[in-house]
Amino acid sequence: MRFMTAEPFRIKMIERVKKMTKKDRQQWLKEAGYNIFKIKAENVYIDCLTDSGTSAMSSEQWSALMLGDESYAGCKSFYKLESSVQDIFGIPFVQPTHQGRGADFIMAQIYCETGKYALGNMHFDTFRGNAEIIGTHPVDLVLDVGMDAASEYHPFKGNIDLSKMQRFIDEKGPENINVVIITITCNNNGGQPVSMKNIREVSEMAKKHNIPVVIDSARMAENAYFIKTREEGYKDKTIKEITREMFSYCETTVMSSKKDGLVNIGGLFVTRNESVYHKANHLAIVHEGFITYGGMAGRDLEALAVGLQEACDEQYLEYRVGQINYLGEKLKKNNIPIIIPVGGHGVYIDGKRFFPQIPQCEFPSQRLVCALYEEAGVRAAELGACAFGRKDPESGEDIWPQLEVMRIAISRRVYTNNHLDVIANALDYIYKKRDSYKGIHLVYQGPMVSLRHFTASFELLE
Ligand SMILES: *Cc1c(COP(=O)(O)O)cnc(C)c1O
Repeated sequence: MRFMTAEPFRIKMIERVKKMTKKDRQQWLKEAGYNIFKIKAENVYIDCLTDSGTSAMSSEQWSALMLGDESYAGCKSFYKLESSVQDIFGIPFVQPTHQGRGADFIMAQIYCETGKYALGNMHFDTFRGNAEIIGTHPVDLVLDVGMDAASEYHPFKGNIDLSKMQRFIDEKGPENINVVIITITCNNNGGQPVSMKNIREVSEMAKKHNIPVVIDSARMAENAYFIKTREEGYKDKTIKEITREMFSYCETTVMSSKKDGLVNIGGLFVTRNESVYHKANHLAIVHEGFITYGGMAGRDLEALAVGLQEACDEQYLEYRVGQINYLGEKLKKNNIPIIIPVGGHGVYIDGKRFFPQIPQCEFPSQRLVCALYEEAGVRAAELGACAFGRKDPESGEDIWPQLEVMRIAISRRVYTNNHLDVIANALDYIYKKRDSYKGIHLVYQGPMVSLRHFTASFELLE
């Protein structure tokens, strides 16, 4: 029945949020060096900086918290998590970590070597940081349509380009490639899904050359839903049948459970290779916590065990993806340039088309982030010149990324469509006076270029 499209839940507890004045926000922006990461969350009206660790938990998860055991050797809560993970991933060996980057670290330590290459669709920034420390070169091989924020509809813009991958392997030699990491969905270009066919073909190509495949599965349930609704042959499969097939093509998967785990903290390193598991156990003991908790409290293990199952509920996913689409359609109606189709966890605005007068060296998407906060108290994230800009290692010159976007990430089960209307109205207002905006100037960046967006400072250009 098409009229039954409301949230598949009702609200049991609320958190008050404040509306502030534009004058206040201008002051806070200035104090924060025009870096939205330095704004206090309590000074944000609608927070779309991230979808990570921001989900609302269900009453089932809150009651599971109370069952949380002490978390150490052989704790009860671990076994509940282990069987929930095995059920969804179809992979036997489960090492929890304190959050996704803990799993990234372990994965990079096991799979990466100095001077070699890690291939992927688009690598996530915490993996990039790990790779940078080890001296492994992360290489993005996503389809060209996935690199272009103005490109036409494609159902799977997160796919790896197989011919690019083959060419890269031929050119560098398979012995110089440590690993292929498939990020599902692909966060950097819009939360775009990867098709089952692509996961399968990438894994076949990798296997032929003895290169292990890792899936970064932070948003695996959303990816599974896109496969179900967009890929031929999957319409009648359950979400879990789809997740199990996706993960049948990898050796190992790392997950930030702060996304599709529907919890506020936690991560997973899951593998079918027993010797890799044993290495991961030792790295976890040094850096995370014992094998059966990996830095998570027993209550968090319990909430995650339940959250993973809820994330794979089809009614929830229909609502979830439908809500992102609702915002996307509103923006499209107002001619705001977005990446189409919208992805699973947010809407991405094309900074180059929004502010064509601002060159990339003056951070158009970052300017838009500031404008949206200033006008409406909405916090979004820049994924463009600041987050993905690089320095040429020889000349030290700036290399600007092809994708220049602002991400409006939507937290899971947190905001109503009324909140999304505020965002759409604010963007419409800014878009109508877009010609009046000038760029901004980067005045401070930290020691690691790949992580500079977290601590950078800017000044407005007059
Ligand atoms: C969030 C995220 C990570 C890192 O996880 P944290 O839980 O934030 O440490 C890694 N990969 C992807 C794709 C992510 O979205």
